[in-house]
Amino acid sequence: MARRRYPGCVARVGVARFRPLEDLLDLPRRSPLSPMLEGALAAASGLHGLRSDLDLVPVRLTATTSESGAYRYRKADPIDLRVSRLGDRLAIGFLHELGHLVDHQLHDPRHGRAWASTDHPAFAGWRAEAARLGRRPFPGGRGRRRYFQSVREVWARAYAQTVLLGSHDARLQAQLEELQRADDPHVWPAEEFTPVARAVELVFERLGLTQLELPIRAA
Ligand SMILES: [Zn+2]
Repeated sequence: MARRRYPGCVARVGVARFRPLEDLLDLPRRSPLSPMLEGALAAASGLHGLRSDLDLVPVRLTATTSESGAYRYRKADPIDLRVSRLGDRLAIGFLHELGHLVDHQLHDPRHGRAWASTDHPAFAGWRAEAARLGRRPFPGGRGRRRYFQSVREVWARAYAQTVLLGSHDARLQAQLEELQRADDPHVWPAEEFTPVARAVELVFERLGLTQLELPIRAA
């Protein structure tokens, strides 16, 4: 019997340094969906960068219909970020999985579990705001209900919504508004979400990961 082959983890090279997200992710090229992914990544990059020694994390388009995406990892290392090219949630699906990658990579082993959103002190203010959010109607079967309401899943949804909201991209903002109009379970109503979006921004400010934290070069 053939031994099951596991996909390799992304390698780590050199020393961890502050990088824009465009230098961390390898988006699919030559797909008609590439411009949408590039726009979503640029919007996330406007919110924050990451301090990392990772080689490029591959982003792969799939034809999955059971879920809009997945972030795969082993222990502390990413494998890839998968996004379904079917359906109409490409941007939000990609940003959701990016939210998981960020959460996983910001995790500090001294703080316990594998996700920064659950126990990193820089996320404390966000956790307090997120706890005030109303529960969204659960979209699936019973088995996944607990996961849908878990802190890391709420983080990934809040991260995606914050990026869409703060983007200067009309297509991305229109996607968010359309989901809100449809009362989609993956987004919160605009007014209710406002303080949470600010709390997400503050997480990155506290961690020194906003573009503004870059040293200013003398002209
Ligand atoms: Zn998720």
